[in-house]
Formats: sequence, C-alpha cells, structure tokens
Amino acid sequence: MIRKLIVTAALVLAAPVAAHAADCSVDLEGNDAMKFNKSAIEVPKSCKDFTINLKHTGKMARNVMGHNVVVSATSDMSGVNSDGVKAGLPNDYIKPDDARVIAHSKVIGGGETTSVKIPVAKLGAGPYSFFCSFPGHAALMKGTLTVK
Ligand code: ZN
Repeated sequence: MIRKLIVTAALVLAAPVAAHAADCSVDLEGNDAMKFNKSAIEVPKSCKDFTINLKHTGKMARNVMGHNVVVSATSDMSGVNSDGVKAGLPNDYIKPDDARVIAHSKVIGGGETTSVKIPVAKLGAGPYSFFCSFPGHAALMKGTLTVK
C-alpha cells in the first residue's frame, strides 16, 4: 500500500515533465562482431517503464553469437554474468530468480528482435550497467545506464 502511494506520488510529480514527451524507450543493436551500437543509455526519471528494444543485426545463430540485454547495478554485473554463464542458454544465461537482475531479455540470434521493460521505480541512484550475458560477451558488450 505504501509502495503504491509512493509510485502514485512520483507519477503526479513527473506529470509536467512527461508532458514534454520523454522518450521511454531506446533501440539497441547487437551484431556478429560482438558489439552493441551504444555504450550509454539514459533513462528519463519521468518514465513509468523504460523499454530497451534489442535487434540482432547479424546472421549468426543464437547458440553461437546470441545476444540478450541485462540490467543490474554495475557492482553486481560480474556476479550476475558469471552465474548467468553457468545457467546456460535454456535460462537465457541468467540464473533463475536472480534478485540482482533488474531486468533482462531473452537471448536472440541474427535477424531477431526482442525487448525488455524496466520499471523505473526499481532504479535508485545507481550506477547501473547494461550488458549481454552470453559467455564471453560482457567484456565488449556493455555500457552504462543512467537515470536522468
Ligand atoms: Zn552477446
């Protein structure tokens, strides 16, 4: 009940900002060269939910060059990633019910798209990161996610 009130209050406060049409989504691309096309994502505080639309612009299969997008606190990224690798492809390289994961998409292959919705109320001061948890990818496929 308290949580609901806080969310409602935040929405009321955010309303004038939202009227300026904050962009509550971003398009992110991953390719066969193991790269995202963005290294930073900004989330407007006025958004209730923020959606990351992920497109795999390559041709390789999801079990070879699969990509997902995972959001966590930057300090949790390494642990989320190593547990995710152990969880394997059937779990989209995310440990089931990992409380450190704020949001994650499924793993997609070349030509596919997916999206993930982040409840902005779950984000605090950060810092947060987004990354791909496919084995070996997070070293290159990562960036910062900042609430503004
Ligand atoms: Zn990847």
